[in-house]
Amino acid sequence: MVQNASLLWDKVIDRKEKIIKSFEEDKEKGLKERGIDLIRGEASFISSTTIKVNDMEISADKFVLALGSKTSTPPIEGIEHTINSTEALNLRELPKKMAIIGGGVIAMEFSHIFASVGVDLTVIEMGDRLLASEDHDSSQTIEAISKEIGIEILLNSRVQKVLKSNDGKIIEVETLDGKKSFEVDQVLLATGRVPNVSGLALEQIGVKVEKTGIQVNEYLQTTVEHIYAGGDGIGGYMLTPVASYEGRVAAKNAIENNIENVDYSLVTRTTFTHPPISSIGLTEQEAIEKGMDIDTNRLDFADVGPAVVLGETRGFVKLISDKKSKHLVGAHIVGPRAEELIHEIAIAMKGKLTITDLSEIISIHPSISEAVIGTAISADKGYQESCCG
Ligand SMILES: Cc1cc2nc3c(=O)[nH]c(=O)nc-3n(C[C@H](O)[C@H](O)[C@H](O)COP(=O)(O)OP(=O)(O)OC[C@H]3O[C@@H](n4cnc5c(N)ncnc54)[C@H](O)[C@@H]3O)c2cc1C
Repeated sequence: MVQNASLLWDKVIDRKEKIIKSFEEDKEKGLKERGIDLIRGEASFISSTTIKVNDMEISADKFVLALGSKTSTPPIEGIEHTINSTEALNLRELPKKMAIIGGGVIAMEFSHIFASVGVDLTVIEMGDRLLASEDHDSSQTIEAISKEIGIEILLNSRVQKVLKSNDGKIIEVETLDGKKSFEVDQVLLATGRVPNVSGLALEQIGVKVEKTGIQVNEYLQTTVEHIYAGGDGIGGYMLTPVASYEGRVAAKNAIENNIENVDYSLVTRTTFTHPPISSIGLTEQEAIEKGMDIDTNRLDFADVGPAVVLGETRGFVKLISDKKSKHLVGAHIVGPRAEELIHEIAIAMKGKLTITDLSEIISIHPSISEAVIGTAISADKGYQESCCG
């Protein structure tokens, strides 16, 4: 038990900046050691084989584009009175009241960070559930947990206007129950990210760009044969490990002439709320839409002894498997160590293990992994009962 603790938010930000700076220095050193030149400046193509950076012209046989993404800016009146995620991470003073526009990954991560340090929060989402790309069970669980920790959630609600007031911002929202207007200190815009493709003259040199990002084929090759692309700039999963993977595949294909297809079947995803939400493969709804014959098995952390001991009983493990082959097709975890546990499922999926194989692992006790193995055991029991009476 802790008494009379206080939070020094300024110190938290100082520490974050110190860590980022040291990571940046290490990366720069690593580039130098590998003989890679780093040029700081905004690049633009002047022909399909030459880019201009500052006053320098650089020609190459092959290019890999890794342009990243930026906050999307929906047509909301007064959007200039909002802050984006980068600005939110640099706030030196915590707001008392904050509204977050959007109910996706960034919105939910920030709402849980700020709620945990006492900020009064409202999340406004125009869809009918939070984290729309996750399994419905994950969305429902995180909505319940968020409300439990005091976050107000407005679903089916559209922000119409943000106005500046004397002390903060006034936000006007159209909800299912009519118009609502309230005052906050800060408004965070978290309505998604869009590929950062402007300013490079990509279209002029023949690189096709769509709304979702730079168009690439299975080798991450753009519509110009010697130009490849990866990362947030091509849309899809906007995650650091996915960007690194795409960078490796694009570079390999550029050098060795299209030897590797890009494969997203084993991308693990986590939303860092408290508790975190992790997933791999298909959601239950996606599997049903694909016409698959599936089994789903779910074990709640409230029924897992070590989670009870930790006091982390919220959430569940849900495994989705193909009824006939017993292979896993998806997994969803909300709960303690979800971001670690999901790798156990990823390895099982990579090794094409069946749910029976997974159920045969004798787990450590006490461990949170018991939740994964326990779900597999109950799934396998279900299989055996249905197959063998
Ligand atoms: C708030 C937030 C939290 C996130 N949390 C996570 C997380 O927990 N886990 C995770 O996996 N991912 C997370 N992500 C996503 C992750 O940051 C991105 O997926 C990843 O950085 C994409 O890598 P990238 O190389 O494509 O782009 P970036 O890392 O954005 O790099 C692109 C670089 O290209 C530069 N650039 C663009 N155009 C030009 C030009 N014309 N000339 C020169 N340079 C140019 C940009 O300045 C930038 O430095 C988060 C993102 C946000 C916004």
